[in-house]
Amino acid sequence: MISRRMFIGGSAALAGSSLMARAAEPAGQAFSTVATDSIEEAPRRIPVVQTCDVCVLGGSCTGVFAAVRAAQLGAKVALVEKQNAFGGVAASALVNIWHKLDSNLQKKPIIGGLTKQVIDRLMAIDAAAKSTRSPGFIINTDELKIELDKLVMDNRITPYLHTFYTAAQAENGTIKAVIIENKSGRQALRAKVFIDATGDGDLARDAGIPFTIRDGNQPPTTCAEISGMPDSLAGLIDAHRQEFNLAKDAGWHAAIPGTEVARLYAMTHVFNVNAADANQLSAAEIEGRRQVRAYMDIARKYGGKKSKPCLLDIGSSIGIRETRSFQARYTLTEEDVLSCRRFPDAIANGTYHVDVHDPKTGVFKFKEPRGDFYQIPLSTMVNDKVRNLVLAGRAISADRGAFGAVRVMVNLNQTGEAAGVTAALAASQDKAVPAVDAQAVRDHLSKLGAIIIPAS
Ligand SMILES: Cc1cc2nc3c(=O)[nH]c(=O)nc-3n(C[C@H](O)[C@H](O)[C@H](O)COP(=O)(O)OP(=O)(O)OC[C@H]3O[C@@H](n4cnc5c(N)ncnc54)[C@H](O)[C@@H]3O)c2cc1C
Repeated sequence: MISRRMFIGGSAALAGSSLMARAAEPAGQAFSTVATDSIEEAPRRIPVVQTCDVCVLGGSCTGVFAAVRAAQLGAKVALVEKQNAFGGVAASALVNIWHKLDSNLQKKPIIGGLTKQVIDRLMAIDAAAKSTRSPGFIINTDELKIELDKLVMDNRITPYLHTFYTAAQAENGTIKAVIIENKSGRQALRAKVFIDATGDGDLARDAGIPFTIRDGNQPPTTCAEISGMPDSLAGLIDAHRQEFNLAKDAGWHAAIPGTEVARLYAMTHVFNVNAADANQLSAAEIEGRRQVRAYMDIARKYGGKKSKPCLLDIGSSIGIRETRSFQARYTLTEEDVLSCRRFPDAIANGTYHVDVHDPKTGVFKFKEPRGDFYQIPLSTMVNDKVRNLVLAGRAISADRGAFGAVRVMVNLNQTGEAAGVTAALAASQDKAVPAVDAQAVRDHLSKLGAIIIPAS
């Protein structure tokens, strides 16, 4: 029986078995609430609905690609996603730009694997196209959801959609099971190895991996697909922001492949929010949607006769850029990125520049890498505290500047593939994750189609 005393809630819980309340999330300046009361939950038996080799929490491309690679190495895999579809920020916040796959100077392919495969498949049905504004791709994010479904089913991964990871059970630095909640109630999944691809690092937080919430986290944005907007929208927002209660801010918009009718708008930010805090997140969702209505109203009032904005889709989640920053074996630094440092345990390559959205003004602050491409080492995804946990996606360890660069999808997708391989090797070799040979991970990734640069 799983007793409440065995649930983990902080670093001390892994060493002993005492019940620890989850650490309160640091509050933003707005929207903070404090619990004034508590109730005791009675112990109860929870059905174990699956025992598998690898359990992936979070089903963005990071999580799906992790699950696929683990399955391709023979692991039995479960994939848990709280939304109704896979795709993470792309699917539920509508973000539709994937950056280039070639290096800056030599223009050589440096990103392949499942990212390239998915782009090729979407291009074949006109659901992705080369961007005309920047080197990279625009994608139809609803078509992406269907492509990811196919990857999951073709690779015999057990999908748990509409399913929230809520807690973990651990013993002596090993996660034994995770608790999930869905329409069927509270259930447990056992696995040999767990991958945290939740973006916020919900399992890593519960497992006691040290984290901070950076002062001045990058603010989130509510994205929307809108038709009939005037070309001059950004200038109109700037001119009339006070009347519509919009703070000084910056944004962007992008084409959607195959249609001239609508564009994807990411025009505002919600400031002073810790999006890993439930109350602040609720308030941010409402404020984000208010802002979309506000700039549409600006277009209606000041956009001229041709401007007839029509809201076609609004993200089912506000787009979250940054929440908890975890500490792993190695923390990637801004200088590693800017100097294009090479790592012997590199599992990903990238070119996207350091791009930190100012926490007060939303202005994008760019710094360009000084070389051909930078790398992400496996050591940013593993920790010596928990033997069977791999960090992937936004939860990898990076300082503010490095995070500003690695956070884009073509980079994080590769961390997913590496997490899947690492977890499958740990499970099949009965090894702790930190003991998995990084070169073996690189060799497997290479065989599976990833572009792995030989260590010099
Ligand atoms: C507005 C905005 C614009 C951006 N623009 C770009 C861009 O143009 N190009 C680009 O490449 N990147 C862009 N980014 C950055 C990029 O989209 C994200 O950094 C990246 O998608 C994060 O990937 P991830 O897999 O770590 O997390 P996510 O995509 O957030 O995926 C995490 C998944 O885990 C699920 N999940 C979370 N908690 C739980 C739980 N407890 N139980 C079950 N499931 C859970 C979520 O539903 C989600 O599907 C942008 C980000 C934002 C917010």
